[in-house]
Amino acid sequence: MKPRILSGVRPTGPAHLGNYMGAFDNWARLQDSHDCFFTIVDWHSLTTDYADPSAIRQNVLEVALDWLAVGLDPARSTLFVQSLVPEHAELHLLLSMVVPVPWLERVPTYKEQQQQLSEKDLSTYGFLGYPLLQTADIVIYKASAVPVGEDQVPHIELSREIVRRFNALYGEVFPEPQALLTQARRIPGTDGRKMSKSYGNAIDIKDGADTIQAKVRPMITDPARKRRSDPGNPDICPVFDLHKAFSTKETQAWAAAGCRSASIGCLDCKARLIDHMLERLGPIHARRTEYASRPDTVWDILIEGSRKARAVAQTTMDEVRAAMKISYRKP
Ligand code: SF4
Repeated sequence: MKPRILSGVRPTGPAHLGNYMGAFDNWARLQDSHDCFFTIVDWHSLTTDYADPSAIRQNVLEVALDWLAVGLDPARSTLFVQSLVPEHAELHLLLSMVVPVPWLERVPTYKEQQQQLSEKDLSTYGFLGYPLLQTADIVIYKASAVPVGEDQVPHIELSREIVRRFNALYGEVFPEPQALLTQARRIPGTDGRKMSKSYGNAIDIKDGADTIQAKVRPMITDPARKRRSDPGNPDICPVFDLHKAFSTKETQAWAAAGCRSASIGCLDCKARLIDHMLERLGPIHARRTEYASRPDTVWDILIEGSRKARAVAQTTMDEVRAAMKISYRKP
């Protein structure tokens, strides 16, 4: 049997190339070697956006379109929506009985996000309990690993601690999930900072050829290249970081040498990058457009995936209730 993994995405709108190169591309490859559960965690969106949930439904659809476009395959993976499997909420509640509040308060992102999103009132239980719900999302499928970036490792460590406490109290019900580290690749936004929706510097997976050109052409480059005749340093240029993600080794060598010798201009360099990006993203964009014309099919995929996920979650919850002595089925 293939090892099971689970990963999830908050539905906050269309995903960008940082999400694609940092996660989805890896997930698509993992489908060959793992039993993959991928979930759109709409309840997690409510932890920060509870005051205005109006965009969540559309955003769930946008995430599903991105996933199908990049090759997540409902025939090989279980693609589902968290709230369509209400057992996640039951397990969250039961875990909340055994997890001390200070364990949640010391999660680094708890205070950080409260400060970053200071315009929102995040003094809610839902926000504090976010990592607990995340643990329920993972362990309810007895996932052995979670593909994550470095920044998510503390959350997985907390999940392991919670599992250990639960198992010590009630018997071995859950395996401890491991972090399956995704190799970090720097994907800069158009302003050179990390690509992020909140910085307004993102190139989205759904962007077509015209939009990609309009975003890449004015991209920031090595500031030392004021004139075409000034040599540059590709190692500090965000355009070159994108070359490393999208271009062939030959093109990367051409760009690096041409930059250092000032034999090419930044617009030449960007034009070649755009060609490589379109080559890679063109088929993805076409698949996305095709699915977007059939939203009912996409919802059907999510509903069917959620039905499959729920069957697994229900089996686990039978075990959990029995272990906690709150199972009232006839013997
Ligand atoms: S030539 Fe390319 S790598 Fe060099 S500064 Fe211009 S865009 Fe960046």
